[in-house]
Amino acid sequence: MHQLIAAPFMGKHLLLRPGRKGGVTLPKGHYNELLATPGDEPVPAWLAEAARSFGLDLEDAPLEPTVLVRRPSKYGYVRASYELNLGCNYDCEHCYLAQKKFEGLEWSDRAKLLRIMRDAGVVFIQLTGGEPMIDRLFIETYERAYALGMMISVSSNGSRLHEPRILDLLKRCPPYSITLSVYGATAESYDKLTRQKGAFARFIKGLEAGVAAGLPIKPNNIVTSTNDHEVEAMETLARSYGLPFHTFVNMSPTIYGGGEPLQVQSAEYLRKREPFKGCNAGHTFFHSDPFGKASICKIGRDDAIPLMAEGIEGLTRLGAVADKLMLRTGGCSGCAISGTCWTCRPLAKQYQESKAPMGMYCQHGEPKGGE
Ligand code: SF4
Ligand code: SF4
Repeated sequence: MHQLIAAPFMGKHLLLRPGRKGGVTLPKGHYNELLATPGDEPVPAWLAEAARSFGLDLEDAPLEPTVLVRRPSKYGYVRASYELNLGCNYDCEHCYLAQKKFEGLEWSDRAKLLRIMRDAGVVFIQLTGGEPMIDRLFIETYERAYALGMMISVSSNGSRLHEPRILDLLKRCPPYSITLSVYGATAESYDKLTRQKGAFARFIKGLEAGVAAGLPIKPNNIVTSTNDHEVEAMETLARSYGLPFHTFVNMSPTIYGGGEPLQVQSAEYLRKREPFKGCNAGHTFFHSDPFGKASICKIGRDDAIPLMAEGIEGLTRLGAVADKLMLRTGGCSGCAISGTCWTCRPLAKQYQESKAPMGMYCQHGEPKGGE
């Protein structure tokens, strides 16, 4: 298996090591040299030198399989998220997926989808769900994405992270990151939010197993009205394992525009977002649902493109879809202060459909006089 990946990335060329943050920017000439070097020749001296920054000694190592050289792609997508399956073993009160059906692509189509992503240029992939680690093809999907030269992030509730088959996989094929959602700092609030007895105990077991295995874990503390009295305790929990963490406080409507998650928004922790300055959804990254339908992101799912039917060429239509979704003004037409809006159009549409209080997403809903 490869130890390094050399890949085009947003007009640059990167040398990356699976399981490690950061990378080395390669001059274009060096990348072209790798493309032209036969696999049985030793890695160039400059590469052996650069590899030392990753703690690797590649003196006299053959280029293949040591370095996986990703080919240039005309499609220009460098990141993707893939929702393997919407099924989950929990039923969180704030979950933005609403119905969580256990369904997704069979193996041959998954392999095809991953090849499409590779050929589209995807270097960083997020595997998500539902709960991806309970998907019956999680291990095969992860291994294939890894073998194709992608840097993998997994978003999980951590309930299966303690399992030896999962830990073996993640040690063999190191992930770029494992984001673990944290639903409370005690069994009382965690099990209540997830509506699953024993969920907190499973989370702690997975967290401890992952930390012991040296995995790059990042807790994502989810704050709702059920656990908002434990925010400090959740942050202390992450610190006690020496882990960087994120605290997520603003709930979103479901992907079907339902308002259920908003019912458990913690009023105390609702935060004003930064003004929206645009994003590259649909242009340099995309999202695939469990059926290989490509949308601009997890939120903006309208006009999704069926990649299983259209193949990689379907992605050439995604940029126009993104532009259309970003321009759609819907309930915001005529707004004179849209330039300082903090909500992108796809997300604003979901808030409007869910009949959310305006203060959750719109400046016109702010109390008079500011904040
Ligand atoms: S663990 Fe995640 S996917 Fe599962 S119910 Fe909770 S929020 Fe939804
Ligand atoms: S939700 Fe909005 S800001 Fe986020 S990726 Fe999608 S379009 Fe971009």
